[in-house]
Amino acid sequence: MTTLKSDVLIIGAGAAGLSAALRLAEKKHIFLISKVNLLESNTLYAQGGIAAVLDEKDSIKSHITDTIKAGAGLCDEAIVKFVVEKSKENIQWLIDQGVQFTKHQSNKQSYPYHLTKEGGHSFRRVIHAADKTGHAIQTCLLERVLAHPNITVYEHHNVVDLITIKKTGDNASSCVGAYILNRKTEQVEMFIAPTVILATGGVSKVYLYTSNPDTASGDGIALAWRTGCRVANMEFNQFHPTCLYHPDAKSFLVTEAVRGEGGILRLPNGKTFMKRYHQAAELAPRDIVARAIDNEMKRQGIECVYLDISHKPAAFIKEHFPTVYKRCKSYGIDITTDPIPVVPAAHYTCGGVMTDINGQTDVKGLYAIGEVAFTGLHGANRMASNSLLECLVFAQSASQHILQNTTQNIINLKVPDWDESRVTDSDEEVVVTHNWDELRRFMWDYVGIVRTTKRLQRAASRVQLLLHEIEDYYGNFRITNDLLELRNLTVVADIIIRSALRRKESRGLHFILDFQHKDDAHQIQNTIITPDSEVDIIESYSYP
Ligand SMILES: Cc1cc2nc3c(=O)[nH]c(=O)nc-3n(C[C@H](O)[C@H](O)[C@H](O)COP(=O)(O)OP(=O)(O)OC[C@H]3O[C@@H](n4cnc5c(N)ncnc54)[C@H](O)[C@@H]3O)c2cc1C
Repeated sequence: MTTLKSDVLIIGAGAAGLSAALRLAEKKHIFLISKVNLLESNTLYAQGGIAAVLDEKDSIKSHITDTIKAGAGLCDEAIVKFVVEKSKENIQWLIDQGVQFTKHQSNKQSYPYHLTKEGGHSFRRVIHAADKTGHAIQTCLLERVLAHPNITVYEHHNVVDLITIKKTGDNASSCVGAYILNRKTEQVEMFIAPTVILATGGVSKVYLYTSNPDTASGDGIALAWRTGCRVANMEFNQFHPTCLYHPDAKSFLVTEAVRGEGGILRLPNGKTFMKRYHQAAELAPRDIVARAIDNEMKRQGIECVYLDISHKPAAFIKEHFPTVYKRCKSYGIDITTDPIPVVPAAHYTCGGVMTDINGQTDVKGLYAIGEVAFTGLHGANRMASNSLLECLVFAQSASQHILQNTTQNIINLKVPDWDESRVTDSDEEVVVTHNWDELRRFMWDYVGIVRTTKRLQRAASRVQLLLHEIEDYYGNFRITNDLLELRNLTVVADIIIRSALRRKESRGLHFILDFQHKDDAHQIQNTIITPDSEVDIIESYSYP
């Protein structure tokens, strides 16, 4: 079996994985893994920007207050403070790497870069590269990574499982690498490293409609879960209110900044409706906007609503939203004159693998950073543009921690080879495709924007059947990329449903008709589900 050894194995090459690789590479040899090509990731598609306190008139206090308000009482305040305080230096780090953010046209402003305002923010603090911020970050950091002699990249490699061992004298397991499917050779290879970082992104692909690319199948959460890590707050899935509604447009998101710059939501008859749902109207937090659209669509039996920015000058629209303009134009929609048809879609995973302030998980040697992680920053709802910031800040803190603490010696480890002796090639691929469709559809219908206990229970019994069927299939047939993703998606779907059933209140992104209000007196801080227990363990957790 092919065995490869490095100092640090980073699984995932989005904003979190690329930043960690660059921060560690001066001192460590890094293997960087990506499931598909190195460009493809959620990061690539981020349009709006990164929230940070950059203008001298803005304040750390204000960014903290806005984040906590959006998080509906569940943010870990110490973590919010930690992240916001590190925002400015992390933006500077990106600028130093060469990321080209949009500048002001004139030099009269106190800060040279243009800052935009998004839902939930009480100040203009979102730095961006027009409406292609993620593209600017991904391509720039990737170029640096590819040029670095200490980083070796492996694309089209899908992690099957993490490798953990119990060393003599230790009472807990350590993570020492991963079994990884080389998708080109279809062989499983063994990657060994004393430190492993999960930077695999979220799980929005568990829903039928999503703004995310195909990589977002929750692999990192399932991998960590199988090694014994706690997973928290998975009931909080963010649905982006405005994805382009067009038969040929797969997962194209219309950035929040369109509403930030004055875009108005309208019904097919041209009437506005957001004022009926929130005093901030179009600038209300995302969950409220998504629910309002969902409600209007269900109430009126309409297929979509419309986002209208056509009252702004055409030059302004083209300059600020070139990607949205071009993409819509390619479908025959001119956004300088016509409203944009939009629907909500699964967008961001607020919960994830529990970590501390350094990105450490419950398993020694295993870190989780970026969207895969639950740090406590977002609480019950993520404020727009805080997620890329979280990727950067935790890539920084995890790297610092790794550089200061790695002492494990793994040179002579005895790790079992991947055993394929008892499996054969599948002649029933239809099981995978069928289960894949079924899972994503019932997650959308029963565990979507508006939930009920009955629908969640229905989903719970369906997911149990799928878990058994897939484990059986997994035990008998040679693995494929689709099977690995389906196995992970089903594990995470199960965790989402169990978390949603446990939270008997509506809060932030979790809206359940049976319990329509917040219940501060009886509710838990975080919904923590542990893998090594028969019963879900729900406890109040606070960071030390
Ligand atoms: C359309 C869109 C717009 C957005 N806009 C914004 C915005 O304006 N501002 C903001 O802050 N946030 C935004 N977000 C959210 C933000 O982009 C993500 O939260 C962030 O990019 C996540 O980065 P990441 O590094 O954690 O993961 P990702 O960028 O998703 O990278 C995941 C990586 O992990 C790899 N991977 C996954 N599974 C495996 C596996 N099994 N084996 C090997 N490799 C694996 C993938 O190949 C990929 O390289 C947006 C998201 C979307 C989808």
